[in-house]
Amino acid sequence: MKNLKEGFESICIRDVDNDNFHAHLPPIYATSTFAYKDLDRAIAYFKGENQDYMYSRLGNPSNQAVADKIAKLEAFGISDENGEPIQAYGQLFASGMGAIAAATVGLLKSGDKIITQGNLYGTTNELFTSLLLDYGIETIIFNLKDLEHLENTILNDETIQMIYIETPANPTLQSFDLEAIAIIAQNMGIKTVVDNTFATPYLQQPLKYGIDLVVHSSTKYLNGHGTGISGVVIGKDNSLVNGKVKNIQKMFGACASPFEAYLLNNGLKTLALRMDKHCENAEKLAYFLKNHELVNHVNYLGDIDHLDHLLAKDQMKKYGGMLSFEIKGGFENSIQFLRNIQFCTVTASLGTPDTLVSHPASMSHAKMDKMQRLEYGISDGLIRVSVGLENIEDIVADFEQALEKLNV
Ligand SMILES: *Cc1c(COP(=O)(O)O)cnc(C)c1O
Repeated sequence: MKNLKEGFESICIRDVDNDNFHAHLPPIYATSTFAYKDLDRAIAYFKGENQDYMYSRLGNPSNQAVADKIAKLEAFGISDENGEPIQAYGQLFASGMGAIAAATVGLLKSGDKIITQGNLYGTTNELFTSLLLDYGIETIIFNLKDLEHLENTILNDETIQMIYIETPANPTLQSFDLEAIAIIAQNMGIKTVVDNTFATPYLQQPLKYGIDLVVHSSTKYLNGHGTGISGVVIGKDNSLVNGKVKNIQKMFGACASPFEAYLLNNGLKTLALRMDKHCENAEKLAYFLKNHELVNHVNYLGDIDHLDHLLAKDQMKKYGGMLSFEIKGGFENSIQFLRNIQFCTVTASLGTPDTLVSHPASMSHAKMDKMQRLEYGISDGLIRVSVGLENIEDIVADFEQALEKLNV
């Protein structure tokens, strides 16, 4: 395939032949250890002179094949200053949190600071503001929309060494300008990490804007079927991905299981197809909700009334499969709405074929200070939806009957 151009969907689907028997699908290398068939090569490996497989915590062909595939997707269609296609590198982790921990701990040291938004994924927020703090890495929660103030803040504090961004952010889909933030970071000589879980590389490619590392909870849309937990770190700089980041994986033991790699690779094959359908169904559900009398407002990036609609239009290929909406009647009515749901699935998480409905105020954000929660638009009546791939009329009918049964 050297001279043939591969489209995004083709990269998702085609596998590299990585075994001696030419299995059509990449085998699950269920082995802890690889034998030293060639002693000279083994000795050279331990000197760091080759990248052979030795022990699955340090590398496994099933894991590497899928990490390479996701790296190709994140780098898809992106050229460098000379017009040459960029190359990206990837490492697979046991979970999204394993990937996020490695990308941050690997690049930082005690005394460094992270600057980030206040509406991060809950466990990422906990990692930054509690665990990392205990190890001398402080986190500044900041309004990443205020670019001028961001630049000055970094300029005046040389211990700020990383900007960490999650866009679109949960559950209001607030979005941040990756290009503008990457320029500030590059001017200041600091690193940027983007959690691209909600968008996937099909809809948004942070590497295009000069972001250093992309992390994913591949548990979500990349696996796409809710069958397992995994994470990935992708970047253009091999010395970061296969140096500092991989080193944390080695020492913390956050390596993925080859079985998870197999599930992830299988799911990835339909990524483009699924994302198109998630986006299409989300748009239709958003339209229904926006016109419903019991709904105050809808947060959906494809809606021209969303504050970040134009940014999303610019930065993303489509508007994604996530939305949230506020039900009239606050906390009680939104809990009642969940009780009324019959067809969709009431749970957190996202990116599965079925539609998932949750109530952030009593679930994912229940521990958050109420004032802070409201500041980020997570009101008592807010419902979050990961719009699935079912027949849209069935999804809409379920929401319609669940809303109808409310006594407002
Ligand atoms: C789920 C999620 C994570 C954590 O990933 P795990 O695979 O559960 O460890 C991180 N960021 C975002 C945006 C997520 O949705």
